[in-house]
Amino acid sequence: MSPIITLCVLLIALLATARPTKAPLTSVEPGTRANAVPGGKLIALTFDDGPKPYVLLGTRTENGVSSQSLLNLLDRQQAKATFFVMGWRLSKNADAKCRKDDGGVCREAAAEEHRRGHEIENHTYGHGDFRVMVKRYGEEWVLNDIDKASTIIQSITGVKPSYLRPPDWTIWPELQKKIEARGYQVMTKSAAVPPALRDVDSEDYFCAGRNLSKCPKPSDYDYVLRTIAQRERQGVNQHILVFHELPPSVELLSRLIPELKKRAYRFVLLRTYMEAAKGQP
Ligand SMILES: [Zn+2]
Repeated sequence: MSPIITLCVLLIALLATARPTKAPLTSVEPGTRANAVPGGKLIALTFDDGPKPYVLLGTRTENGVSSQSLLNLLDRQQAKATFFVMGWRLSKNADAKCRKDDGGVCREAAAEEHRRGHEIENHTYGHGDFRVMVKRYGEEWVLNDIDKASTIIQSITGVKPSYLRPPDWTIWPELQKKIEARGYQVMTKSAAVPPALRDVDSEDYFCAGRNLSKCPKPSDYDYVLRTIAQRERQGVNQHILVFHELPPSVELLSRLIPELKKRAYRFVLLRTYMEAAKGQP
C-alpha cells in the first residue's frame, strides 16, 4: 500500500471509532446524563415547609405578600426540584387557612408541583421538633406523624416518599435507625455522611421576615456561591441545596440557577441525584 492509501485507511478507521463515542452525548436528554456520569456537576434543589401557593404560583395572599412564581422559574430554567412538604398543609382541613394565609389551596399547589415533574418528599405531618415531640408523646407518635405525612402525599402523587428531612434537622442515631427501618433515607447536615450526601443549608430563613440580622452578608446569594466554591475546593461537585418556600429565596434563585448553569451545573430530582452521587466524596 502506498503511504497515501495507508493514511486514508488510518483516517477512515479513526473516524469510524470516533463517531460512536460522540453520538450518545448529543442524543441523551438533558437530565438523564447524570446516570452516565457519576462525577458530574449536579445540584439537588430542595424546598422545605410548603406547599405555599403564593410562592409556587405567584398568587397574592390576603395580607398582601406577593412573590414571583417558583414553579414558573423552575420551568423556564428547566430545573427539577424536590419539595419537602408539611403533611398537614395537604389535608382538607387546611384549605381555609391556606386560602387565607397563602393565597390558594395548598393541596392544589402540591398537585401542580407533581404535575410539572417535581418530587414531593416528607418533612413530617405536624413539623414538630423531634426532641420535644418524643418527650411529650413518645417515639411511636413521631414515627406515626411521619407515616401520616407519607399517606397524604401519596394520595396526591401516587408515590410513597423515600426521603425524610427532620424539622430543623433535629435527629439522633437511635431515632434515625427506627425511621430508616420504615423505609426512609434521613436527610442530615451531619459530618457522619459524605459531603455530597449532606444537606447544604442556604440559611434563607434568616433572610425573610422583619429581623434580617442573621441573614448572611453581603447577601445570601453570595453566601450560597461561597459555600459551593468552598466545597469545590475540597473536590465536591455535587450539592443538595436546602431552601424554603419564601419570596426572597425565589428572587435569589432567579439569579443563582442561571449562574450555576453557566458553571456547568445541572439541576435534578433528589432521587436522580442520589443515584449519581453514590460513592462520591
Ligand atoms: Zn421545616
